[in-house]
Amino acid sequence: MNLRPEEISSIIKDQIKNYKAHLQAEEVGTVITVGDGIARVHGLEKAMSGELLEFPGEVYGMVQNLEEDNIGVVLLGSDQNIKEGDTVKSTGRVVEVPVGDALSGRVVNALGQPIDGKGPINTDKFRPVERVASGVIDRKSVDTPLQTGLKAIDAMVPIGRGQRELIIGDRQTGKTAIAIDTIINQKGKDCLCIYVAIGQKASTVAQLVNALEKADAMSYTTIVVATASEAAPLQYLAPYAGVTMGEEWMEQGKDVLIVYDDLSKHAVAYRTMSLLLHRPPGREAYPGDVFYLHSRLLERAARLSDELGGGSITALPIIETQAGDISAYIPTNVISITDGQIFLETELFNAGVRPAVNPGLSVSRVGGAAQIKAMKQVAGPIRTELAQYRSLAAFAQFGSDLDTATKNALAQGERITEILKQPQYSPLEVSKQVIILFAATRKFLMDIPLSEVARFQSELFDFVDTKYPEMLVEVAGKEGLTKELEAKLNDIVTEFKKSFSIK
Ligand code: ATP
Ligand code: MG
Repeated sequence: MNLRPEEISSIIKDQIKNYKAHLQAEEVGTVITVGDGIARVHGLEKAMSGELLEFPGEVYGMVQNLEEDNIGVVLLGSDQNIKEGDTVKSTGRVVEVPVGDALSGRVVNALGQPIDGKGPINTDKFRPVERVASGVIDRKSVDTPLQTGLKAIDAMVPIGRGQRELIIGDRQTGKTAIAIDTIINQKGKDCLCIYVAIGQKASTVAQLVNALEKADAMSYTTIVVATASEAAPLQYLAPYAGVTMGEEWMEQGKDVLIVYDDLSKHAVAYRTMSLLLHRPPGREAYPGDVFYLHSRLLERAARLSDELGGGSITALPIIETQAGDISAYIPTNVISITDGQIFLETELFNAGVRPAVNPGLSVSRVGGAAQIKAMKQVAGPIRTELAQYRSLAAFAQFGSDLDTATKNALAQGERITEILKQPQYSPLEVSKQVIILFAATRKFLMDIPLSEVARFQSELFDFVDTKYPEMLVEVAGKEGLTKELEAKLNDIVTEFKKSFSIK
């Protein structure tokens, strides 16, 4: 058969034109089996992967498995009133969530429906939850800091806008606390926050909303919740719903911070869903595509190029380890996807070092480029001094006969450790961090007893606040610590130290 090029193009055009109509045609199928939140449906031959299906009683389902003679559907609601033989309608749409400014300050479920009793969300904009992440050309490198307000992190594992930094540690090591403090610290910094709670208790989430409200941080924060008691598909959807809301803002040129708390539970929910769908289990019974589950989610964090508005999504995924085992399946997966990790240690946490950041195992692979200059200057030696201190401290336990150099290294390490401690809900502005780290690394604290270091710090801040408030601006300037500024800072700390009385 000889077709002329014009004919081919008209056939293609015709097909493209009718493609939508084709999708919109309402199709009807029937339920074959239903149970455990999964339905198998016969007859919907044109169903798309990820498509939304309507079951009786306004229950929706999402197409997951496309098999030869039936499709596997996960239900996004209760399966109680669905039975064999029920009709199922295709909608031609994939799962969507509402996006836009109306979501700021709200608590929503994985489908973007409000659950905070503050009325409907007034937005007419929706976006599909699955989307291919921005490509290489659309991005630019990370160059603006995202301050957490925590000295241990901003100094040693700095985070930049558009970065993906993993928070990893055993249960009850302060993982959530770091994420929440970071959200609180974004107040007045032009960064919208999204916190996605996956598989947690509803009461825990309620406490967290309270804490954010108290800290005046809810106005720029959106909370997406799929609690432990909700169906696995909703827990699976929640992080994608969150990042979809973030993408709308990012494309408007805004900066967004998103926390996934936590992806271990997300992986478990996905495993449950996959096993119920009879997908073959692999290592640790997770399905073979569990890496893709998290990689396609975290790839959506980005710093967009200036042509695209320069917006960003910074992602802080959280992973819970079992007995500190960071080489288990899901932890290693997520470590390899992210640009670094903050490793929290039970031992440190119990010894009162909070946040319990392990300086040896924590790293930020791109954030250093985004650190402000003064911070880079003062924070440089901290990591090595701490590492030295750690190895010496273990060794020093055996003997008391130590030479002066060792004694000094130990004393300095103890003081830096003390300085890096920080209570919850009290993020610190970066210029104050620089000032106290300056004092510590220039050995101003060596003759201050350990028990007085915390008081020294808070009184030094008060002193600078009242007497030299201009320093707080100057220190954070572009030039960093110039010779003159350094001399001035030196004088200020010396002056303060004279007035500081050791009790
Ligand atoms: P889970 O595994 O249960 O999710 P988690 O690792 O997220 O726990 P958090 O809930 O953040 O840990 O913190 C555990 C406990 O430690 C909480 O009671 C919290 O108030 C306390 N905590 C966390 N960080 C600090 C801190 N910097 N100073 C004092 N207490 C803290
Ligand atoms: Mg937690």
